Amino acid sequence: MTLTRRALGATALATILAFPALAQDKGTIGIAMPTKSSARWIADGDNMVKQFEEAGYATDLQYAEDDIPNQLAQIENMITKGVDALVIAAIDGTTLTNALANAAALDIPVVAYDRLIRGSGDVSYYATFDNFQVGVQQAETLVSGLEERFPDAETWNVELFGGSPDDNNAYFFYDGAMSVLQPLIDDGRITVLSGQEGMDTVGTLRWDGSVAQARMDNLLSANYTDARVHGVLSPYDGLSIGIISSLKGVGYGSGDMAMPIVTGQDAEIPSIKAIQRGEQYSTIFKDTRELASVTVGMVEALLQGGEPEINDTETYDNGVKVVPSYLLEPVKVTEGDIQGVLIDSGYYDASELQ
Ligand code: BGC
Repeated sequence: MTLTRRALGATALATILAFPALAQDKGTIGIAMPTKSSARWIADGDNMVKQFEEAGYATDLQYAEDDIPNQLAQIENMITKGVDALVIAAIDGTTLTNALANAAALDIPVVAYDRLIRGSGDVSYYATFDNFQVGVQQAETLVSGLEERFPDAETWNVELFGGSPDDNNAYFFYDGAMSVLQPLIDDGRITVLSGQEGMDTVGTLRWDGSVAQARMDNLLSANYTDARVHGVLSPYDGLSIGIISSLKGVGYGSGDMAMPIVTGQDAEIPSIKAIQRGEQYSTIFKDTRELASVTVGMVEALLQGGEPEINDTETYDNGVKVVPSYLLEPVKVTEGDIQGVLIDSGYYDASELQ
């Protein structure tokens, strides 16, 4: 079967001819990533290509620029070209059912990468981070930042942002964060002045920073003409950038208006620089090298007849089945962690953060 698929796969063949020394004769892996607008997905794609090629596979890596029909067409095209396995970070986790049925009919295994694919029985495995824990860590850094920067506030005024409602992860991040914040809201230590809570209200479609910025503008003008906001739960660095620019726009971060504590996720370079400048307080580092390595291991096992390594068989019910998963540990990053977590690990070179 591998030979047939490879014979069909023009990209694979071209790659093999171009790089005979790498002996990429174990098949071709189709890798569908959501967007290049966020550096983390570029790193994910690059790491997977590198590691798959080292393991002897050719790759077909595609980005869909957050356009759902575009991603669907890319995946269908990969299936038609005869890839041996699919690795998919879905834009909308609910729209791939038919495409995956076609893959299953051809015995092409599918690994959901970082984001769960919902509503399909044809997802073989799921490689991700402990997404609930990501939310817990975001909230923990928010609270420790509030204690540090606003120790005397009677109550901390905090606004909440969620991720994209079509991304299963967004609910895990939010629920994880609220497991820490809700008790503090209940006892009055934290106040959400706008009253806006719940993913249906605070979600940010497509993880779009400009949508978050516009919502923050509205929150500030509607609720904070007299009061000050002390903290913002932001689930992703790209949203934090929009939120921070809204805050700076009305004077936070200068004079006597202390910058609120703003969280994030993905340890993207612009946000690490914002942490160094004291504008963003924290982010969550998810080592895409490790996620790539887990994924390559899963695919290798699926194609070579082994057992993929998993450490969770309960958490990720996609509506049709519980998808066996491997969850990696996320890591909190505040200013003091940049050197140890991001530079010493070789994830970034110090010069990239200057
Ligand atoms: C990923 C996050 C990322 C977000 C926006 C989520 O599915 O898990 O790491 O911040 O998408 O790209």
